[in-house]
Amino acid sequence: MKKHTTNIDVLIVGAGASGIYAAKTLKEHGIKVLVLEATERIGGRLFSKEIADSKHYVELGGQWLAKEGQTRLNDLIVRYQFKKSTNHQQGRWMHDDGSRFVAKKEGSLPLSFFAALESLKFIKHLEKKAQSISLDAPWNTPSLDQVSLHAWLSQRFWLKETEIYWRNRMEQALCCDLRKVSLLEVLLSAKTVGNFERYQGADHYFFAQGLANLFVQIVKDHEIDVRLNAPVHAVKQYTDHVVVTTENDEIDAKAVLFAVPPQTLRNITFDEQLPETFANMLVDFVQGTVVKVVGVYAQKWWRNRGLSGLIMSQNGPFDVVVDSSFDTLEKGILVGLVTGSRASKLKDLNQEELKSKFEEYVQSALGVAPPLEDFLHMDWNQATYTQGAYSSKRALGHWLTARDALQSPFGRVYFAGTETAREWRGYVEGALESGERQARQIVDLLKR
Ligand SMILES: Cc1cc2nc3c(=O)[nH]c(=O)nc-3n(C[C@H](O)[C@H](O)[C@H](O)COP(=O)(O)OP(=O)(O)OC[C@H]3O[C@@H](n4cnc5c(N)ncnc54)[C@H](O)[C@@H]3O)c2cc1C
Repeated sequence: MKKHTTNIDVLIVGAGASGIYAAKTLKEHGIKVLVLEATERIGGRLFSKEIADSKHYVELGGQWLAKEGQTRLNDLIVRYQFKKSTNHQQGRWMHDDGSRFVAKKEGSLPLSFFAALESLKFIKHLEKKAQSISLDAPWNTPSLDQVSLHAWLSQRFWLKETEIYWRNRMEQALCCDLRKVSLLEVLLSAKTVGNFERYQGADHYFFAQGLANLFVQIVKDHEIDVRLNAPVHAVKQYTDHVVVTTENDEIDAKAVLFAVPPQTLRNITFDEQLPETFANMLVDFVQGTVVKVVGVYAQKWWRNRGLSGLIMSQNGPFDVVVDSSFDTLEKGILVGLVTGSRASKLKDLNQEELKSKFEEYVQSALGVAPPLEDFLHMDWNQATYTQGAYSSKRALGHWLTARDALQSPFGRVYFAGTETAREWRGYVEGALESGERQARQIVDLLKR
């Protein structure tokens, strides 16, 4: 027998950044909210873990705040007095060109002079193209939704070197096969960020207090009612309310907001059939593939060798390794990211095998290393209620067919989440923007 709950104004599905921020916004309007979260924790794609007895947290999910432009997240950081740390960049960095490691000067690019020039030209072209599309009606530029990023890139460059560099960068940013996403989807995401400078500065600050803890704090301060271990299975819509069910609960509310990654919506039963184009779009959503690893050492040993700790690779097992140590902690922290096809290759490795691979790779790049004190990893494709990261993308052609699905409500069912953002899509800031915007729309609905 299911527990029946009534008297809820808005039910929010998902306790990630977008769901919690939407709940905060609704509560500020005096609206009664309940959040249902499938897993045992708050944060979703934010997952902070404490380094044993240190009061310093490492991040297995989202980590960085941008240098500028992420106003909502920055306001929260200031409000909760989180202390900003920046990536250590002083010293030479190592470039893995596929056959060997080459030490590079601080701040240099892994490109020849002419390829660097061609890159600059390409960035300007990309920015101009992004500005020419409409965030409100992207389907008005249909040809851009019919060409894949892969095909478009193959016609762009004079130099093979520049092409390979950008293919790599794009695959690392999108974490997926570039054949599956349209140029339009990528330009739209770029447009929500603003310009390339902002994008370059996106990985700037991180926080010893742990980003997931920011949202735990918001839940406490705003007395938001969150039920954990409560995956939502189904929604029934009536003229003036919805009924949402989990394994143990049946909850009546005036509206429901799904603040979940879009691909997880495939597992929800809607009594009223979703429009065919909408349903097809969900089936085809392109999930990113990402594995994040964190290695903790007793000391920041690479710095004594004049190295920044940064390793960038063209086709090695890790795309990038970066020094994310804190000034307030003696320990050295190296964070590694593996994306796209490289991440798929690691999916069958267990924790010990992955740790050995990481140790071996770091030693080949930075020299003999002391033993790791701790090693953590997270494969986001194995997380049942996330199924991929950093964020997923609409498949080729789906802006044309499904248009503003997910942006506007389906009856009393609303959708948020970073994938639906109009600012900083794919980032935590995008999650906040989408949660806030949808919460405001729901406030309007409840006033009617
Ligand atoms: C490895 C990694 C690195 C990243 N780095 C950065 C970064 O440096 N900077 C940055 O800004 N962003 C980064 N991101 C992206 C950022 O973390 C996300 O954009 C953001 O956290 C997404 O928030 P969200 O609320 O949209 O979704 P989520 O965080 O995915 O939240 C959705 C929640 O819904 C729950 N859920 C799903 N289905 C159900 C269901 N049926 N019933 C109940 N609950 C359900 C999930 O368990 C989850 O808690 C990174 C992400 C990853 C994974």
